[in-house]
Amino acid sequence: MDAIVVGRNDLGESDRIVRLLTATDGRVSAVARGARRSKKRFAGALDPGTRLTVTLRKGRGELATLTQATVRKAPNRARTDFYRIAAMLYGCELAASLAPEGGEAERLYGLLDVWLDVLEDVQTVGTASQVALEAKALTFAGLCPALVHCARCGEPMVADGHFDDDAGGALHPWCGVGKRVSLIWLQSVETLRRTPLRDTVGQPWTGSAWLIADFARYHIGHPLKARRLLMDATSGDLTP
Ligand SMILES: [Zn+2]
Repeated sequence: MDAIVVGRNDLGESDRIVRLLTATDGRVSAVARGARRSKKRFAGALDPGTRLTVTLRKGRGELATLTQATVRKAPNRARTDFYRIAAMLYGCELAASLAPEGGEAERLYGLLDVWLDVLEDVQTVGTASQVALEAKALTFAGLCPALVHCARCGEPMVADGHFDDDAGGALHPWCGVGKRVSLIWLQSVETLRRTPLRDTVGQPWTGSAWLIADFARYHIGHPLKARRLLMDATSGDLTP
């Protein structure tokens, strides 16, 4: 089975728990026995962002055991600078958090696969690509925010309005309150959501960079650890 490593934790003195995203089984955790004790066992294969072919043995308990892991593609440029590392970890955590445990997640898996490829390109991804990633991930998880129509009345957004996580996205000023957003911002997010991720690289971005991330956080139910890293990595070249 093909899988992408999205995280890992130490388990006892000698093992690790590796968290994987797969197309067929969504989010999967497995024990990699001996991964801490022996440097050769699973050498380099359990780093986040690594694409693997794995063999899992289902145990009696909740956790499967990782019996074999072959590296298909490992991050290269996405290991070289802080921004790329942060963007890689953020993509892994976002896609995995929105994927079901043990259920089909083909489109989220494909999205993360492309994100990892894009991070290896010469051109650095920017805020437009980050927002596109978030909007697409939410869409593939069935949680797309209302952008061009009002979340409350369903009529088209025709002017600046509000954005409220609890209401489900964009709102007419007369339909509810929330963070103020411009019509251009709403339309830009919608355009990015529908643009192939690779084609968003290098696109300019103005306006709030984190509203869609906030919407994702609301649905995930907890903050993403990698978001702080990504905010640190991008501070200075983002519109607040
Ligand atoms: Zn409305």
